[in-house]
Amino acid sequence: MNYYSTRRQAPDVTLEEAVIQGLAPDRGLYMPREIKVLPDDFCSGIAKMSFHQIAERVAESFFGGDIGTDDLMRIVHDTLTFDTPLVQVTPNKWSLELFHGPTAAFKDVGARFMARMLSFFIARSGRSTRITVLVATSGDTGSAVANGFFDVEGIVVVVLYPKGKVSEIQEKQFTTLGRNIRAIAVDGTFDDCQRLVKTAFLDHDLNRELTLTSANSINVARFMPQAFYYFWGVAQLLRKEEAKRIVVSVPSGNLGNITAGLFAKKMGLPVSRFMAANNRNDFLRQYLQSGSCTPRTSIQTIANAMDVGDPSNFARILDLYGHSWEGIKGDVSGVSYTDEEIRAAMKRVYVNTGYILDPHGACGYLALEEGLQRGETGIFLETAAPAKFLDTVEESIGVRVAIPEQIKHFISGITKTVDFPKDFLPFKHYLLSL
Ligand SMILES: *Cc1c(COP(=O)(O)O)cnc(C)c1O
Repeated sequence: MNYYSTRRQAPDVTLEEAVIQGLAPDRGLYMPREIKVLPDDFCSGIAKMSFHQIAERVAESFFGGDIGTDDLMRIVHDTLTFDTPLVQVTPNKWSLELFHGPTAAFKDVGARFMARMLSFFIARSGRSTRITVLVATSGDTGSAVANGFFDVEGIVVVVLYPKGKVSEIQEKQFTTLGRNIRAIAVDGTFDDCQRLVKTAFLDHDLNRELTLTSANSINVARFMPQAFYYFWGVAQLLRKEEAKRIVVSVPSGNLGNITAGLFAKKMGLPVSRFMAANNRNDFLRQYLQSGSCTPRTSIQTIANAMDVGDPSNFARILDLYGHSWEGIKGDVSGVSYTDEEIRAAMKRVYVNTGYILDPHGACGYLALEEGLQRGETGIFLETAAPAKFLDTVEESIGVRVAIPEQIKHFISGITKTVDFPKDFLPFKHYLLSL
């Protein structure tokens, strides 16, 4: 399968080139030339399949032409070493818990898949030069990518994060690993971090000296595998009840996760519509309302992994629907919530049902509470474990939250990080000195 750039000023590339480059040379995002519709009997039979069986079929459809079946299946199985269970919260609202991976956030799926696919391509090509993975994070990407790539031969990871704007547990997860993982605290916002990464990709000196790639959701190997769990979430629901009209609500920031869901819908996933649940950074909601969009600086909220003012993957959504506002509105609605509304939802759901939401999942839940219609069944994505946002969640619900085993050991680790301003030059010199 070939991949084209959303800006259409760069030549088509292979999967391998798209994964290694990350961003296209014209600063566009790579998109597959074709999204194959899966056969009807697959989509109607998913309730009888396992997570691995579903993921194998979806992965084959995306990447089967580029990687041999055995290697691809190994990558899929090594990625999915944990489940994403569907848990009922109220009679018509279900939580798809995506936080049972090593860093307790949904990004583990994409990051683990990408690390394995990249190291497969490095081994296959026999290249001797090291690859430097740059990743800007608003919190969870950094930890998922750092852990996904930790100790992978031939790869150095540089994580850029906005100083003081990520939770302590998030920061620990990428600043305590050491070895091939470096962390940079940028005096600025997530958007500043993302800008530094994008500028690095265009810098001639850097690209002459280093092989740079991105592990943000701009990388096709990061966002596409997220389609796996949309199928698996729906499969689990269909095992439990005959849901006719399924609505999926996705807590959204950089829009990579919802883009994977929309890919799944194009492939035949039986979902009637999607909701993009934003915090106060409501870029997509504004677009859906007005048909135009204005990138802005991000606003800091308690759902900080969604503090994105200028979401990269919007370009992919536009392309997926041939830039048709009507088309996008037909499949997606957008809502936005304040910190107060998010806190109140966490409290209300805990008191009424005993279920603990994290601030991001709470946005997804609120969207269903507000927008679900008669006859519809809602699935919201629980994108991170509540314990990753310990102070916020405990303050909101008034009880102690248990910390999952898999993230406990990070807490005692020693933080190693370097401080940088948001200007490009010092960052460039740092990369050259690695
Ligand atoms: C990254 C993240 C999001 C937003 O996902 P996008 O793909 O950037 O839209 C939502 N919730 C959590 C917990 C995250 O880490």
